[in-house]
Amino acid sequence: MKTFFKKSKTLIFYRSLFASLKMSFYRGFITEKLCCVINQFSYFCVLNRAVGMSQLKHKFLSDSEQIAFDAKHRGVIKFNIGKYDQAVVRGKQQYFNLKLARDRAARIKRNVVNDLEKYLKEFEFNFQRNGGQLLWANDEHEAIAMILELVKKHQVRKVVKSKSMVTEEIELNHHLQAFGVETLETDLGEYIVQLAGEKPYHIVTPAMHKSKEDVALLYHQKFGTSEEASPEEITQYTRLKLREKFIQADMGITGANFLVADIGAIALTENEGNGVLTMSMPKVHVAIVGIEKVIPSIKDLDLFWSLLATHGTGQQITVYNSLVSGPRQADEVDGPENMYVILLDNGRSNLLNQDPQKVALSCIRCGACLNVCPVYKAIGGYTYNTTYSGPIGAVITPHLKGFADYGHLSYASTLCGRCTEECPVNIPLHEMLLYNRRDTIKAGLGDPTFGKIMKAYKIAMGKRWILETIPVSFKNMGMEMLFKKAWGPRRQLPTFQTSFRSRWMQHHKS
Ligand code: SF4
Repeated sequence: MKTFFKKSKTLIFYRSLFASLKMSFYRGFITEKLCCVINQFSYFCVLNRAVGMSQLKHKFLSDSEQIAFDAKHRGVIKFNIGKYDQAVVRGKQQYFNLKLARDRAARIKRNVVNDLEKYLKEFEFNFQRNGGQLLWANDEHEAIAMILELVKKHQVRKVVKSKSMVTEEIELNHHLQAFGVETLETDLGEYIVQLAGEKPYHIVTPAMHKSKEDVALLYHQKFGTSEEASPEEITQYTRLKLREKFIQADMGITGANFLVADIGAIALTENEGNGVLTMSMPKVHVAIVGIEKVIPSIKDLDLFWSLLATHGTGQQITVYNSLVSGPRQADEVDGPENMYVILLDNGRSNLLNQDPQKVALSCIRCGACLNVCPVYKAIGGYTYNTTYSGPIGAVITPHLKGFADYGHLSYASTLCGRCTEECPVNIPLHEMLLYNRRDTIKAGLGDPTFGKIMKAYKIAMGKRWILETIPVSFKNMGMEMLFKKAWGPRRQLPTFQTSFRSRWMQHHKS
């Protein structure tokens, strides 16, 4: 942490600020709550300045304000995350030493991030040797152009997809449909949000924001099924509907949880079997994968598969774990005739060039940091307006899509550190958010007013006589003027009371 603070004047200032706050607490001049007020104010300043700069930031503010007080949304998220929490406690019991497993996984992923090119080349060599065709896409435009080219080449009219956040990132469905290709999501959660005309709410559980009643109603509206259909009935209905689509599809599109370098295979994890059908039934299989997904060896999978399952859904192991190393071979009876892997950069190289934030490329997209984040639980997945939401989204999105539009996300955190505690690959997410804040300020996207106020505050806090001279009523007036708007209309702004020193003196006199 020392080095971290040395790197940034802004953070030196923060450090002094909080040191002086701490001192002041002991002196008794301010309440602890003032720290919260100032934290809130810093957030407000950055966002407020953002209003003039980006519609996205403005939207983030107003959507947060609305959704945070939506009782129904809160209830559904609380219920669904509550079930997840219980499952994770059970899932973790499979480990004798979870810390050791996490440390090993973190070490492997750090090595990969530090030597990404080598592992990607190894994957490329081995995958091509297996008969697969590998394409490199610098950005979403290149990826889309490549897929449309494959669509033309193989005369594809119908596509089935299994859940993939990378395809969300490049808005693949939209592009395929505009090109006249019918695309269908086959993961149940994705299918539900596609039916509803929405995007995934969460990187692991796309329909987490919907209750079973919401889903029954949606099916009733779309297909005329009973309004009171149970989850089992809905699943059965969907299964029958999708089965024929798998048979008709010309192309199956998937992501991959891991690229296994030493055997040149993709590893795909899912619970419904739709991924297996998507990869094996159509004549063409295309996997679109972020370059950070590579792991060195098939020997690492026992570690990563179980960590992903436990942290993603609380399972000991996910139901279907497939390794696909290329198209159907001469002596095989099923599988696609052609298999392509598109390796997508799309801003990941920018992140790779950022030390220390590049550590976020170790992410295995388990979603655990979202589920424990108090901010995510309050504002939900859609408010972030990004493919990757929650703490990991707030860390990586500014690097993938630019600080001007997404730098504000790094402030959408209490810095409580729960995300860091939970991450199976030990990404210090809350520290990365601080580094992002530093970079937001460095890029001139912070609010200069905040800096001035903090300077004045630092002077006042450093001199006891100044604070003692200022009357309590004046201090409260200043608080109102400076912080009332940031504190919002729903909360009572904390006030200065008689100072601890006066109370102490009074007590000792009596
Ligand atoms: S940052 Fe860690 S906890 Fe969050 S999704 Fe990635 S691996 Fe999971």
